[in-house]
Amino acid sequence: MRGNLCIYYDPVFRLHKPPYGFHMESPERLNMAIRGLRDSRIWDTADHYTIPRRGDELGLFREVHSPEFMEQVLEIASHGGGYIDPDTYVSPATPLAVSSYAAAVLDAAEKILEGDCRVALVLGRPPGHHAGYFGRAMGAPTLGFCIFNITALAAVTLYRLGYEVAIIDIDLHHGNGTQDILYDKPIFHIDVHQDPSTIYPGTGWPWQLGEGEGSGTKFNILVPSGSGDDVYVELLQKAIDMYKSLASTPDIIIMDTGLDAYEGDGLGALRLTTESYYSIGEIIFSRIGAPVLLVLQGGYSRGLYRALPALVASLVGEPNPFPETPSRTEPSVRAKALAHLEELREHLDRV
Ligand SMILES: [Zn+2]
Repeated sequence: MRGNLCIYYDPVFRLHKPPYGFHMESPERLNMAIRGLRDSRIWDTADHYTIPRRGDELGLFREVHSPEFMEQVLEIASHGGGYIDPDTYVSPATPLAVSSYAAAVLDAAEKILEGDCRVALVLGRPPGHHAGYFGRAMGAPTLGFCIFNITALAAVTLYRLGYEVAIIDIDLHHGNGTQDILYDKPIFHIDVHQDPSTIYPGTGWPWQLGEGEGSGTKFNILVPSGSGDDVYVELLQKAIDMYKSLASTPDIIIMDTGLDAYEGDGLGALRLTTESYYSIGEIIFSRIGAPVLLVLQGGYSRGLYRALPALVASLVGEPNPFPETPSRTEPSVRAKALAHLEELREHLDRV
């Protein structure tokens, strides 16, 4: 083991649920994640925490969201719940779920910074990385199942306290909300996502590097449709090396942990196996070496069960519980991937 693992889970995260009918972003997702962690025996080796009762976490979101957007969410919740846009629902207990999620993430960050956890995983819902300052972010059509942005809140909070924070978002989709909120803040945000010309939210381009004090701190790494493990790992390694050449070792990495880039999870066109997820942990450990706080974002089926345990296992130095044959990429697709990365490098050189 490279250090201890802390897992936060609480039944309160199940209370955010669809007002009617089927929705992909449902409490069942947590069962899939927990089943995968149990079957891989990672669950048994972790220290477990429920939600600390801290105070007014909902009020803290004023730091990262407009009063109008917060009011809109609270209004729908207090009137029995409903859809805020065609993708995204709010239920009566959504404010309780998001404030609990924030409490857990802030507590986990504190434990990491005090040395009580080397890796912390917060198994919370609803996700948040598509939620920007005004709600929908950077021109996205919807909130994409997200309500309030807990990662942005944690990053801003820790930054204000004087800590060096880096965000790595491995969700299939671009973390447009996080990028929107942090665009002018000097907090590094490396976002690896499927080419936005092929998928929601259609943002996250190499030229979107941040502005003002945040200029040059936002890295959008485009992964073309059809990419396999070899290209994904190569892009991540190169992106992390670029980041390392510009930044000192952070006190903490907040990883927006989406498992929906795993092949067969259902939404994407990448071909990642557990080998990519296992490599993510290896790359972060060997090239950055900072403790990691995992904040659950997307992932809707097999990714939660298989990719999440592989990622966590690598971060704590255990073998891959679900080894798979690595997927290979067509040379033309790899060439496209490297061209996108080169574009990012050229834009960065001009900052
Ligand atoms: Zn996603």
